[in-house]
Amino acid sequence: MRNENPEMRMGILFVVSAPSGAGKTTLCREMSRLIHNLKYTISYTTRTPRPGEVNRKDYTFVTLKEFKDMIEKGEFAEWAEVHGHLYGTPIKELENLRKEYDVILDIDIQGANQIKRRYREGVYIFILPPSMEILEDRLKKRMANSEIEIKDRLMKAREEISEYKEYEYIIVNNDFAEALSELKSIILS
Ligand code: 5GP
Repeated sequence: MRNENPEMRMGILFVVSAPSGAGKTTLCREMSRLIHNLKYTISYTTRTPRPGEVNRKDYTFVTLKEFKDMIEKGEFAEWAEVHGHLYGTPIKELENLRKEYDVILDIDIQGANQIKRRYREGVYIFILPPSMEILEDRLKKRMANSEIEIKDRLMKAREEISEYKEYEYIIVNNDFAEALSELKSIILS
């Protein structure tokens, strides 16, 4: 799974995007548990933790000021505003991980485009929910989402889904085990 260039020998970048609620985060985490050589970076965000989320494990939760300072210092490989909050991938952690491992990034479409421009490499995978109805249902089951948040996420999902053709691989997350096995075969190939 290593790049062939002997001078660079950086791990492969797998960039996975999906509308919120498509099941991407669980898939990515499970993937890095199953594939020993694959790690994921912990993003920074300005949103508040959901019940059960742990700082520096799920995200590194920071204030808007801290996030903006990091932008100014050029500390993000990519960053974007998603659903009214800022999210970013720390460049140092990403590049340190890539010295030893392949890396999976669970980021939105804006971030994926920045990664494509910055590194000019990577494998881009888009995860689609089986239908908009199922997506809405999944978002409603996540108790953390309010009515307004759900509407906002569904609107953004429609926008994102219209861009999925930019990605090389599309996985429909109908059944978790099947989606996981598809993602695994893309990564292992
Ligand atoms: P959530 O708040 O539901 O965990 O994530 C909301 C959205 O932010 C998801 O689409 C997720 O992929 C995206 N996201 C999470 N971390 C990052 C990041 O570091 N950069 C970008 N651009 N998007 C991210």
